[in-house]
Amino acid sequence: MDLLVVGSVALDSVKTPFGEKERILGGSAMHFSVSASLFTPVRLVGVVGKDFPEEHLEFLRGRRIDLEGLEVADGETFRWVGEYTQNLNEAITLETHLNVFADFQPKLPERYRSSEFVFLANIDPELQLDVLQQVEKPRYVACDTMNFWIEGKPEALWKTLEHVDTLVINDGEARLLAGEENLVKAARSILGQGPKSLIVKRGEYGALLFDKEGEFWAPALPLDDLSDPTGAGDSFAGGFMGYLASRGEVNHANFRRAVIYGSTMASFNVQAFSLDRLRTLTPKEIEDRARRFKALSDFDLPPRGS
Ligand code: AMP
Repeated sequence: MDLLVVGSVALDSVKTPFGEKERILGGSAMHFSVSASLFTPVRLVGVVGKDFPEEHLEFLRGRRIDLEGLEVADGETFRWVGEYTQNLNEAITLETHLNVFADFQPKLPERYRSSEFVFLANIDPELQLDVLQQVEKPRYVACDTMNFWIEGKPEALWKTLEHVDTLVINDGEARLLAGEENLVKAARSILGQGPKSLIVKRGEYGALLFDKEGEFWAPALPLDDLSDPTGAGDSFAGGFMGYLASRGEVNHANFRRAVIYGSTMASFNVQAFSLDRLRTLTPKEIEDRARRFKALSDFDLPPRGS
């Protein structure tokens, strides 16, 4: 099935306890697309500036990522400067420069308009809605966001969420969005106001899926070689949506598996800066690791009463 994504394409400068890199390939749509393209072809909607290095475009052309919807505009590429200190689950934003995104008016290539699976990656909620409204008959829509937009444009965000099947956010964002500290109550409150299901990413504590059929929890893989958590959330979403689009059928059983593939992709993404680990990743490595996830929380209980 066709999978469309709109989101940021960025040059990130990132500092973690394990190193520091300047102007590396990043952005929500970038981490998402590269991750999802390991499962299914992806159509990208976004904008970069004239300063966006040719080598990145070259790399993307070599993946199953359609770049017709990636505009190259006059100006500079979106830039994010962030740091992780002790708490690797939480990025500290030092600078956000919207640059070419400030005046971006997405116009979907004709071919994209028939897309059935749509992911609204983290970007201005007005842009998310603008893109969604150009898709003829979206079958399944998921959406991400972050504090920057929850605090900066709450009304536009709630308006976008009216059209969303699944919201995929981290625990801090869920608490902020709902105005509620208890995560389960926050989830209930969000589900009462729009999306049919909610995925709460909890960094090293895994991910929780809430929908009308109950809850599902996927652990995060215990890793001893973490480098850079940036993009963990987007590569999670890429694995999640990529898997669902590759199956074509949206049901609770596929949802559960998709959460595991999402967790699998996030675990690879954090093992190197930018999305470098995903550059060499093979389908076999993904399958092997997904099976490790199953083993991680699989156990037998003796029959009742024995
Ligand atoms: P995450 O998966 O949450 O770690 O997302 C990381 C990516 O989000 C980085 O590569 C940033 O370029 C991008 N990003 C950071 N702030 C924003 C923002 N306000 N809007 C869109 N993208 C952002």
